[in-house]
Amino acid sequence: MAEIQFLKKEEQSWLLDPKEGFSKKGISFEIRRDDLTGHVSRILPYRRKYPEVVIPPEMLDASQKVCPFCVDQIPSATPKLLPEIASEGRIRRGGAWLFPNAFPYARYNWVIVLCKDHFLYPDQFSVEMLRDGFLLAQEGIKRIGRIQPEFQYSYINWNYLPSSGAGLFHPHLQVVIEDVPTTSHKKVLEGISRYQKEGKPSFWQDYLLEEIKREERYIGHQGDVHFLTAFSPRGIFGEVFILFSNRSRIDEVNTEDWTHFSLGLISVFQYLRNHIVSFNLSLFSGNIEGIRSRVYGRLCPRMIIPPWNINDINYFEKLHDEVMCVVSPEEFCENLRPFFTGSRDD
Ligand SMILES: [Zn+2]
Repeated sequence: MAEIQFLKKEEQSWLLDPKEGFSKKGISFEIRRDDLTGHVSRILPYRRKYPEVVIPPEMLDASQKVCPFCVDQIPSATPKLLPEIASEGRIRRGGAWLFPNAFPYARYNWVIVLCKDHFLYPDQFSVEMLRDGFLLAQEGIKRIGRIQPEFQYSYINWNYLPSSGAGLFHPHLQVVIEDVPTTSHKKVLEGISRYQKEGKPSFWQDYLLEEIKREERYIGHQGDVHFLTAFSPRGIFGEVFILFSNRSRIDEVNTEDWTHFSLGLISVFQYLRNHIVSFNLSLFSGNIEGIRSRVYGRLCPRMIIPPWNINDINYFEKLHDEVMCVVSPEEFCENLRPFFTGSRDD
């Protein structure tokens, strides 16, 4: 028996189909449960044709006129850090800037503007641009680690485009640093704790080996950064799961790892450009005493669904904590693999 369970129940719903003379028709779907956290997804077999997403130029022009993240506006329109964190006020690296979120969600909540461009499609980001943004986020996280080490739970997040919850078009990450883990991170850490109490040493290592062996959801790796599709996804269009297999905390990640992570992301972005533009991304870091966790990430594509601008989150996810997903994780993996430039070998 596998150490890690991939729990799913195949279900059917019956109806009399108006398209086929009201004959009886069974529609199959799956209910999947993530073994580590108990997260539930409903995998629905509806085939969708994704329209090409084009952002209207007039919308980009109008948003640029009032954009505080455009380089000429940053010095006068964005907040500065307190001097005990950064005497320079804002921290910079390459074309990226780090400064506080003007509408903070946490004691330490910062924006990282990734580039001078007001808007880029996903396939227009360069490795250097992403790597510098992540290195800058890490620099801020390290500074808090030195002055307030109890704030050990750090998250690098990205809402890409307003349809994923971003307030502005201008590409930017957000860092959140907390003294307790966020709810979903806590569930992961508690799951790892239960796993270790059963005498099994490393959940993440077992998970990775099992997924590589199964060849159903493993996309590939760039160095020590592995890319998979999640068995029980958190997004309606699936979830890319990312594991830094040799790093427990974001402050341990080195420049080479960030380059590998950025290369993998660019592969995913190449795929998204042809299908769905928008996404949410989070990296999770921090441990409970005695837990052997790893830095991991989740990327969920998002979109407003035509023809009526339908939101991709409905009552099931919002109120029942169960996610409806219209692409099977195995098919999503198959679709992503041709875009991946890394390796699938160990
Ligand atoms: Zn801008």
